[in-house]
Amino acid sequence: MRADAAPDPLEPPSLASLADRCVQCGLCLPHCPTYRLDGVESESPRGRIAYIKAVATGTIAPTGTGDRHLDHCLGCRRCEAVCPAEVEMERLLVGARAAQFERHRPDLAQRAALVALASPVLGKLAFAAARWAGKLPAKPPRPDIPDPKPIVRNDRGRITVFEGCAGRDYEAGTRWALATLVTRAGFDVVHVASQGCCGTAAAHAGDAVGAARLGQENRNAFAGHAKVLSLATGCQSILAASLNGVADVEDALAFLDREASALRFRPARGRVALHLPCSQRFLGGAGALRRLLARVPDLDLIELPDTGCCGAAGLHQLAEPERAARLREPLLVALEASGADELLSANIGCRLHLGNGANIPVRHPIEFLAEHLA
Ligand code: SF4
Ligand code: SF4
Repeated sequence: MRADAAPDPLEPPSLASLADRCVQCGLCLPHCPTYRLDGVESESPRGRIAYIKAVATGTIAPTGTGDRHLDHCLGCRRCEAVCPAEVEMERLLVGARAAQFERHRPDLAQRAALVALASPVLGKLAFAAARWAGKLPAKPPRPDIPDPKPIVRNDRGRITVFEGCAGRDYEAGTRWALATLVTRAGFDVVHVASQGCCGTAAAHAGDAVGAARLGQENRNAFAGHAKVLSLATGCQSILAASLNGVADVEDALAFLDREASALRFRPARGRVALHLPCSQRFLGGAGALRRLLARVPDLDLIELPDTGCCGAAGLHQLAEPERAARLREPLLVALEASGADELLSANIGCRLHLGNGANIPVRHPIEFLAEHLA
């Protein structure tokens, strides 16, 4: 049955009015990874906002150069986190890219990527092709999770797990790990087969129609399911907006943190590095992850410094591989210096990008936690 249509959370009220909030103070500039990379105003939040406003009000005609600087925005929202005027960069970006999308359709490679992400069958083929071409890392091996202990009480409710487009292909082991932890905490896990991509990549690429269609498909798929756990921090805000009024979307780590009294862990060996994705560092969830990992006895955990966005940023790692690699480099240097045996990161896009550059395994923290269940 089709769920009621949601108010469109991705529709900006007006690009000019959103841009008007910027008082041009420049406080965001040192926090913007692309400004730090290039050192020019046009690659800064303030420069992008000025361009968006000038085009939206008709002061200037859009230019290829201006659009290219807009293309480079990572959607990391680091500027939002420090802005005293509460500029909503994600809404500006989604609206500005939708206008760009109308002006000139993206190139064939980007269109093909958007089609593949929206289709489970084509997505599987596309991810296999990207792995074959060396653009994405190999699928991680199935985690070594011990048999769950018998469940004493398993009547605390039903939860479902959001798979996502890349996660569908890459995170079978992570979902199995999450199911083990959630079952141990006394919940039943229900699989929702008809779910699809959250639409974040489409929205950030300017395909507002495609993003809205994916959001509606997920509203239909999750209708009747009260709780949806998300494994990818980067999917969560747009997924939650799409399922508003249908289901409660919660970060899987935040859920497990609340239920952690039911979980016991055995001691860890080796050194583990932790990467906090921008979405987790600035939009919440880092505290829950730190508390969960602190429950693992003897864990030698090194939290990597905040060197800026890793450069993954949805399709950015495929569309701008050279820029994405330059953004990733300081993090890889810090990882090498940490001496860690493995790296944990809670966002699928970051894991794929980091996994392509790191020489140690890169996994979701959920897999590590499930492997260490006592
Ligand atoms: S979202 Fe990130 S990359 Fe884009 S302007 Fe803001 S800080 Fe810079
Ligand atoms: S911090 Fe906010 S108000 Fe100041 S320049 Fe950046 S976006 Fe504009």
